[in-house]
Amino acid sequence: MNDFSRKEIIDILRDDTLNSWLFNYADEIRQKYVGNEVHLRGLIEFSNICKNACKYCGLRCENKNVERYRLTPDDIVKTAFEASKIGYKTIVLQSGEDAFFSRKILCNIIENIKNFDVALTLSIGERSFDDYKAFKESGADRYLIRIETTDKNLYSFMHPNMEFENRLNCVKSLKDLGYELGTGCLVGLPEQTIESLADDILFFKESDADMIGIGPFIPHPQTPLKDAKQGNFILALKVMALTRILLKDINIPATTAMETLNPNGRIIALQSGANVIMPNVTVSKYSSKYEIYPNKPCVEDNSVNFKKNLEERILSIGRVISKDYGFRKKTK
Ligand code: SAH
Repeated sequence: MNDFSRKEIIDILRDDTLNSWLFNYADEIRQKYVGNEVHLRGLIEFSNICKNACKYCGLRCENKNVERYRLTPDDIVKTAFEASKIGYKTIVLQSGEDAFFSRKILCNIIENIKNFDVALTLSIGERSFDDYKAFKESGADRYLIRIETTDKNLYSFMHPNMEFENRLNCVKSLKDLGYELGTGCLVGLPEQTIESLADDILFFKESDADMIGIGPFIPHPQTPLKDAKQGNFILALKVMALTRILLKDINIPATTAMETLNPNGRIIALQSGANVIMPNVTVSKYSSKYEIYPNKPCVEDNSVNFKKNLEERILSIGRVISKDYGFRKKTK
């Protein structure tokens, strides 16, 4: 009953009369396999400099209207320390593909942060196998790299000068190297089909991902997709719920993009299969410049107060805040 076929996934995605059943079912599976705990991961957006030109992303190199910034390695480590002091058990380092951060510089940052008794996640895009290996040896625990879409033609259109095969190889290498692997997709890209979303979900299962991040596409005014229709919140929620039902014991964040489209988006996501939130701990003068899409709600997210409020919201829906690192506990 749990393992839907491709056709069943497509039917469920198409049929909105099934939505409450789907969200409740995903919530039950979440409760059964990962329990009541919500894991908070402190996100540091350490550089908005990027060599790529992803058509949907506000940080694409061709956008000349972004004020670019890069935190110094010392500031990155300091921000991570502050986050660990207020109770974060995981630090996520995210950036554009910024060549300043060489293997050596990153290994050093990783080694320093690992002194703070935290799990460490990287989300810095495509690197060589040897880089990934070195980061792992320096102590990185997890890596997030969304496949974005498994539709190869759509992938090529969205990512000028990038190769789908290369993205796929990155995903495989990271898994082989023993990282906890996070991948995921965008929902609502122009020309994206329901069939390809079903393929994305099946890809998550096949790649044995440990975490899946799903977010609606939000058009950024300084990109070629500025006039495109934005992704649908409910459809993104459905892709997420189906992912919970099929992959069961993995970690699934209630993504910030969901909160952008719905003021209660992250709480709704927590009640439809998600069990992770990634609050922004970057100082706001930088976080506001890390505009992958507009109206990011997390720009004010970096204070102790924000964390308290969030925790209260989580408790109010009968969930608890996890005190451990929040690694995937595989049930099979
Ligand atoms: N450079 C890193 C991190 C990218 S930012 C990498 O390549 O993995 C993290 C995620 O933000 C991306 O994987 C993408 O799925 C999402 N994103 C980018 N632009 C977006 C937009 N306009 N709307 C919604 N999500 C977006």
